[in-house]
Amino acid sequence: MKVFNTLSGKKEEFKPQGDTVTMYVCGVTPYDDAHLGHAMSYIIFDVIRRYLKYRKYNVRYVQNVTDIDDKIIDRANQRGVSTRELAEKFTASYVEDMKSLNIEPPDENPYATDVIPDMIEVIQGLVDKGYAYPAGGSVYFRVRNVPDYGKLSHRSLDSMRSGTTCEIGGEKEDHMDFVLWKAAKPGEPSWDSPWGKGRPGWHIECSTMSLKYLGQTIDIHGGGQDLVFPHHENEIAQSESFTGKKPFARYWLHNGLVQLGSEKMSKSLGNLITIKEALERYSADALRIFVLGSYYRSPLTYTEEALEAAERGAERLRHVMSANDTGKASGEALNAEPYRTRFVEAMDDDFNTAQAIAALFDLAREINRADEAGHNAQQARETLKELGGLLGLRLGRRDVVITVPTAHLTVTTYAPDVVIGEQSTSEAEVCVRQLIDERVNCRKKKNWQRADEIRNKLAKLGVMLEDTKTDTKATFKSVPSKEALDSLMQELGIDL
Ligand SMILES: [Zn+2]
Repeated sequence: MKVFNTLSGKKEEFKPQGDTVTMYVCGVTPYDDAHLGHAMSYIIFDVIRRYLKYRKYNVRYVQNVTDIDDKIIDRANQRGVSTRELAEKFTASYVEDMKSLNIEPPDENPYATDVIPDMIEVIQGLVDKGYAYPAGGSVYFRVRNVPDYGKLSHRSLDSMRSGTTCEIGGEKEDHMDFVLWKAAKPGEPSWDSPWGKGRPGWHIECSTMSLKYLGQTIDIHGGGQDLVFPHHENEIAQSESFTGKKPFARYWLHNGLVQLGSEKMSKSLGNLITIKEALERYSADALRIFVLGSYYRSPLTYTEEALEAAERGAERLRHVMSANDTGKASGEALNAEPYRTRFVEAMDDDFNTAQAIAALFDLAREINRADEAGHNAQQARETLKELGGLLGLRLGRRDVVITVPTAHLTVTTYAPDVVIGEQSTSEAEVCVRQLIDERVNCRKKKNWQRADEIRNKLAKLGVMLEDTKTDTKATFKSVPSKEALDSLMQELGIDL
């Protein structure tokens, strides 16, 4: 297995310290709903973790929650709630998103505020060794005492110095020094420490937690490319100075960032799409196929077309999984092993999920052919499900929702051409749209009885109607047959 290590700047053979791979991935700062950038990062590290398990490693995965931070304090003040309340609300929202995306929960998911005594211990150790100094109630890390500072981001301290402006009148010895402990400001949550009341800085949190839960040297440290500098660079400086052991992390894996058009998706640009918004429109499988369809270190460009294509791909796989071949399974069995080999080779090459997915689609196509030829594809189906599972795909049936804007009686949205069992929604959808229009007319004429009749009869066929202020939403629990819909239309005296 080869992985690209940001530290060396090249692909390396993956050799963990033992049978258990220790893995730390930087977690969220819960001050708002998580967005597609988070989805990308956590889907990728979820797949890496699943794949390592498939390759017979135990994996111990730790991810933090930064529940105290400037952004949390600001947002809590704006909303007039406590930082704790705010952090709990958005942590719960985040956990729900991860569940929806089928991301396995970490083995340990510590909150920053739960490990404050441990952080104080590490900071004190750094002060004792001369790597940190207190000033004005805060504690700073002395960057110039670390000769190899910059080794992860591949830049020298001198080049970083010249690129930044000096702070005037600051309490730091050098403007490259970063904060480990922040002196309390009035009205902010604070904890007791040897340097007075205050709170920890962000970087020390990850160093302390990985040390506490995974030991002095970890196998994999992951995160987005935007964390390489300064966050991960500072984590290395803190951890290696404190323990005296190098390296702090053996493999540094960084995912590319999600872009909207040519811009990075970020809070400050105001172009975020939250995970919840995306999941209202697309299935979790489609989001995963979208993310995993490109190399994880490259930027990922979000477009509606790309997501729609991913949804169609997910639908093709679901269709193959739900097609029932028991009874007609005969003849020679389809051999899926060449596809497994392709999948494994792709994943062994720095988690080339795009190639791995391509192997799955090819396998799905072969299963379709085998079904048509009346050959046995049961085992191949199981392989497809297993390998899809390594990418976190559920490939189960999915409710299909179409929304008809009834306020204007125009039909503007179309559901993707979804097949459940033998039936396609696209045919049924035409009838259902017409029935929704008819129902709106009935309601305008105050013919409530007929409006209810239409709704009840559709419900019996597995199509649930739900009215909102402007729309009627139709959810297909199953897709009614053409005959059943034709006879319903006839019964109601509606011409197609
Ligand atoms: Zn971190």
